[in-house]
Amino acid sequence: MNILIFGPNGSGKGTQGAIVQKKFGVPHIETGVIFRENISKGTELGKQAKGFIDKGELVPDDITVPMILNRLKEADCAKGWLLDGFPRNLIQAEALWGALQKENIQLDYVIEIILDRGTAKKRIMGRRLCAVDNNHPNNIFIDAIKPAEKNGKMVCRVCGSEKLSTRADDQDEAAIDKRHNIYYDTKIGTLAAVNYFKERVKVIGLDGLPGVKEVSESLMAKLG
Ligand code: AMP
Repeated sequence: MNILIFGPNGSGKGTQGAIVQKKFGVPHIETGVIFRENISKGTELGKQAKGFIDKGELVPDDITVPMILNRLKEADCAKGWLLDGFPRNLIQAEALWGALQKENIQLDYVIEIILDRGTAKKRIMGRRLCAVDNNHPNNIFIDAIKPAEKNGKMVCRVCGSEKLSTRADDQDEAAIDKRHNIYYDTKIGTLAAVNYFKERVKVIGLDGLPGVKEVSESLMAKLG
């Protein structure tokens, strides 16, 4: 099962992606996570990517495209993958589609979570990351996934960990706006990539406004 998931930063894409990943048992490949892991390990790739990420800019395509196409060739992807955060622009969409066509690999599902910019921005600023598991959803602005409280301290609502943190680029409004400028760009940005796929395969559209549970139920119904 090969799946792409699109949605603006703050649309709940990561959360829904984790649910899809569990359903199909395929690796959840998140471009942003790969970059952040490389940054924390201090690798050469991490050093190259950091400046772009901190500013809310895309890491250049000549770094990102081969990184992802190579990742898809690793053994754990033999039975499929869920790509999240890639492609992020038209060039990456064309590169991915070209690579899939060349190797005769089918795209089974393309999912698009639709959410307006204002709501997406508020959700980003409320996001809290759990150090135990990046896929434990916590958001101080969304009632359904508000962090829990223990001894007056905010803790992860899934595992109770006290290690909740914010991502630096999540609290920087200018960086959020830049990321959204890229996402909502229908000429060369991410929505251009979504439209590119709409011309080639069926794209499952999902309203991202309701809570996590409602969105995932509607997603499951559409995935069949
Ligand atoms: P994310 O975790 O998806 O919000 O990604 C965090 C940051 O990683 C982005 O703001 C970009 O700087 C970088 N990034 C993630 N995915 C891509 C991509 N497909 N192409 C280029 N840069 C990316």
